[in-house]
Amino acid sequence: MICPCQNLQANPVNYEKCCKPYHDGLIAKKAEALMRSRFSAYVLGLCEYLKKTWHISTCPQPLELEPDSQWIKLDIISVSNKQVHFKAYFKEDSEFKYLEESSNFIQQDNKLVYLDGKTKVGTAHQNRNDFCLCGSGKKYKKCCAQ
Ligand SMILES: [Zn+2]
Ligand SMILES: [Zn+2]
Repeated sequence: MICPCQNLQANPVNYEKCCKPYHDGLIAKKAEALMRSRFSAYVLGLCEYLKKTWHISTCPQPLELEPDSQWIKLDIISVSNKQVHFKAYFKEDSEFKYLEESSNFIQQDNKLVYLDGKTKVGTAHQNRNDFCLCGSGKKYKKCCAQ
């Protein structure tokens, strides 16, 4: 299975070689790996993993995942030691939207965890040469753009 965080990328990596090791207990040392594994956990509904990687002061209690949010794709825009700027795409009604966030990560008990982030939501704009967000595996220009 293609890793959810690699979905619709040009050269996707399998889940086993991407986020699964983290979900199985490997500690993510880099902010990007942690961010990717948390996105995949949202897609796969791994609530426990999300709690484990969320700072105790900001983790919602109880943490409930929305069962019908359909996450499609993750684009990492920029990364530093303690911050990841990304766009995560999802489908709502019949519209493609994105959630853009600059996430902050922090050390807790010698582990990097998610602290908080600034988010905004907007309507997704697709580039003609990107894989279409509908998931057809075709480029947008040869798919829903027509
Ligand atoms: Zn992954
Ligand atoms: Zn399409």
